[in-house]
Amino acid sequence: MTTTAPRIAIVGIAIESSAYAAHRAGYRDFPVLTGDALLARYGFLADGQPLRRAAEWIPVFMARAIPGGAVLREVYEDFRSRIVDGLRAAVAEAPLDGVYFDIHGAMSVVGLDDAEGDLVTAVRDVVGPDTLMAAPMDLHGNVSETLALALDLPTCYRLAPHEDAWETKERTARDLVEWIRRGDAPVRAWVRVPILLPGEKTSTRVEPARSLYAQLGGVAAQDGITDAAIWIGYAWADEPRCHAAVMVTGDDAEATVREAERIAGELWDARDEFSFVGPPGSLDDAVAAALAHVSDGGARPYLVSDSGDNPGAGGSGDVTWTLSHLLEKPELTSDDAPVSYVASIFDQGAIEELFAARPGDVVDVVAGARVDDRVSGPVRIRGTLVSLHEGDPAAGRIAVIRVGGIRAIVTEHRKAFHATSDFEDIGLRIRDADIVVTKIGYLEPTLYDVAEGWTLALTPGPVDQDLERLGHERIRRPMFPYDEFAERPDLSAALLQGRGYVRGGAPEASA
Ligand SMILES: [Zn+2]
Repeated sequence: MTTTAPRIAIVGIAIESSAYAAHRAGYRDFPVLTGDALLARYGFLADGQPLRRAAEWIPVFMARAIPGGAVLREVYEDFRSRIVDGLRAAVAEAPLDGVYFDIHGAMSVVGLDDAEGDLVTAVRDVVGPDTLMAAPMDLHGNVSETLALALDLPTCYRLAPHEDAWETKERTARDLVEWIRRGDAPVRAWVRVPILLPGEKTSTRVEPARSLYAQLGGVAAQDGITDAAIWIGYAWADEPRCHAAVMVTGDDAEATVREAERIAGELWDARDEFSFVGPPGSLDDAVAAALAHVSDGGARPYLVSDSGDNPGAGGSGDVTWTLSHLLEKPELTSDDAPVSYVASIFDQGAIEELFAARPGDVVDVVAGARVDDRVSGPVRIRGTLVSLHEGDPAAGRIAVIRVGGIRAIVTEHRKAFHATSDFEDIGLRIRDADIVVTKIGYLEPTLYDVAEGWTLALTPGPVDQDLERLGHERIRRPMFPYDEFAERPDLSAALLQGRGYVRGGAPEASA
């Protein structure tokens, strides 16, 4: 029983990176927080909050980016050094009781496998084996053996879209403080489940993910159990750690094993029921459905997800394939065509040219595919400049170009248009659009709320929803849905405590 306030360091690097994206994440992509600014990131650690008083929080270093491509090796190594140096300084003052390890779990780093495993190993080298470590992860993260052995209290979100992100971070902090006060380490029952599915098939808005995840709170409330989590895993990387996993933590070994194996079994049994959260189709299907909705007098707007280059899943953000195809459709580019907003392509050079013009001018620019030209080259946009905008925190400068019914959005830097405010902020009222095409997968909340119709367009790109079109070579096999299973896989739990196995073990060596 610790009597003084436990000392807990906060560190992390969080990004979801597609190994299939040509984008490389560097300093510009990662706002860095240290000191009081890092502490202020967590509302539940604000002055006066019970958790703030329950521990001495030591904000060391946190870098967080929106999803993208693999992180540049030198940038990752710099961040890792800053974390290690900061922890060394903290440990030199007094031993740490805990580390709050704020990661996503699907970071790729150029030339490195299991990036979070590398990072957690570096942290363990400083803080030693006995300091309790907790991690609030994204359910699209991966749990490698290295990570499973290093973390005492790993957990993840229970909703996709992640409307419970802050609740999860708070729960994790509370559990960490409680276990430090107990002066003990939880056991954790861990099952690898050989399933690898895209997030758009595993949204908790629909079954079977809805029920699988909805039970976790009740499991965690059982006697002897602290937390229960299902990682669906990350499909746009090609590493042995990419697969689903279940982890149940607590102090009752039998209960954690029983529940972890039960949940893993239910996940496996539901594998054939996962299907796209929205009506899927080709881009042509999506346009036809949107135009039918418009001609039937359907309410505005009809949403089309250009899912193959969704920056929210790791898309590059300058793939031109969809805009190129839309600009070839007279039913969208004629002057009397329905109004379509098309977001977005980033291209600094095109922005320079567009900012030399004035709204109302006729413009002719070539944009996009500067970073990612693997599925299509730059797109030529000939139209009328509608408006210019400056100062967007992510996009920098933005231009809107009208081509008949299309309003094409070009930005200076990579940006995800995932909220109605992203459009409204540049004068594009969401209810004035007949059709909104944006680089997204399942709809994030504000777009979901306004959508009067929707197609999840299965477009090509770095986060192609057709996983077999991408090809994986290094994931563990057999894996559903790529392989046939002659029999039910081994879904027995390994039991871990501290840095080792209490019972069972990794079914095979993990890279
Ligand atoms: Zn996620």
